[in-house]
Amino acid sequence: MTLKERDKKHLWHPLTQHKLHPETIAIVKAKACTLTDEDGNTYIDAIASWYTCMYGHCNPFITERVTTQMQQLDQVVFSGFTHEPAVKLSEALIAILPDNQNKLFFSDNGSTSVEIGIKMALQYHFNHGDKRSVLLAFEDGFHGDTFGAMSVSSLSVYNGPFEDFFLDVKRIPTPNGDNHEAILNLLEKLVLEHDIAGFVYEPLVQGAAAMKMHNAEGLNQILKFCKAHQIITVADEVMTGFGKTGKHFASDYMDTMPDIICMSKALTAGLLPMAITSCSQDIYDAFYSDDMSKGLFHGHTYSANPLACTAALAGIELLQSDDIQQNIQRISAAHQQFNARIKNHPKVKTTRQTGIIFALDLDIEMERYGNLRDKLLVFFMDNGVFLRPLGSTIYIQAPYIITDSELEKVYKTIENALEIL
Ligand SMILES: *Cc1c(COP(=O)(O)O)cnc(C)c1O
Repeated sequence: MTLKERDKKHLWHPLTQHKLHPETIAIVKAKACTLTDEDGNTYIDAIASWYTCMYGHCNPFITERVTTQMQQLDQVVFSGFTHEPAVKLSEALIAILPDNQNKLFFSDNGSTSVEIGIKMALQYHFNHGDKRSVLLAFEDGFHGDTFGAMSVSSLSVYNGPFEDFFLDVKRIPTPNGDNHEAILNLLEKLVLEHDIAGFVYEPLVQGAAAMKMHNAEGLNQILKFCKAHQIITVADEVMTGFGKTGKHFASDYMDTMPDIICMSKALTAGLLPMAITSCSQDIYDAFYSDDMSKGLFHGHTYSANPLACTAALAGIELLQSDDIQQNIQRISAAHQQFNARIKNHPKVKTTRQTGIIFALDLDIEMERYGNLRDKLLVFFMDNGVFLRPLGSTIYIQAPYIITDSELEKVYKTIENALEIL
């Protein structure tokens, strides 16, 4: 029996309605940008396995460092203990984060990093004796699948059974260059009516909303407004962090810095699951007290796992290398040329790009997991390119080490796909 047949017996996959989508593909190997399945077919991983393995799969620079580390110290409790991989990672990460970030809190995935950001924002006010219970978020945001993260995400069909249990969240539109004044007016109204504790947002690019992009100047104005009203700003950089937007963090495009930043995905270069919520000294100080109960009583068993910290540190070293920085420039420039080639195609409605993130909307109505979208997905896979369209949006977010010829194959396959629709 093949792996994909044996899979059906016991496995339950994420984001899958198994009755409608019973088939999986069994991947047996990944190297650089190539995935290989059990039948020997290969696929270019043009979305870096959900934007994680940005330095390529099984990158030897990272795997060797982790191999060495795993013979030295595998796992230890992070309450009361510390270790070199966490200390070194903290020094390297604080050095590249926006200047006001000064403390790191560990967890295991993007959703928990957001959960912690929300708890920090709520307890910040609580510890100051100022009980605020409402959160602010963008329309169409996505922040993860745990309850706090689901609450600040925009309501989707998948959240139906849980909506009654959500936190109280008010929504504002994303700034598009024309609506900044309207957003500020709305914010003025919201702060009069509600005690707003924090603003949770994906800076510049909203990933799961199909790579929707918004205006940095407008976001900066919103962040300034939040600062003026002691609304804690929580930048969810789980997708945008570590070079995707052309700078180390999307937050680097605004001069108003967030109070809290959530990181995961590319943090560990796709090797191991880990997340970090960073914050400013001001946030940390609100928890620093002779009173035990003012501490942040949140902790995951695998917090700051030494192997994951080692992978993250190696990833940050790669990110800062000339080689990777040049690759980011190269891919951004290639996307611009592809954009010129495809933007006037009759089946293309709009295109957009920030750094190495490129997206195009088809001028065709499609359900997020509908038949036409499935047809597109199957076409890509049959042609050896792993792309996962989000409804009628096709996006590319390939590893930084993708070669020019691989990139051209991705572009060409997208162009060919337009012909079968
Ligand atoms: C993927 C993602 C999350 C959730 O991360 P998980 O590791 O899947 O829990 C949160 N926020 C953003 C912006 C994401 O892209």
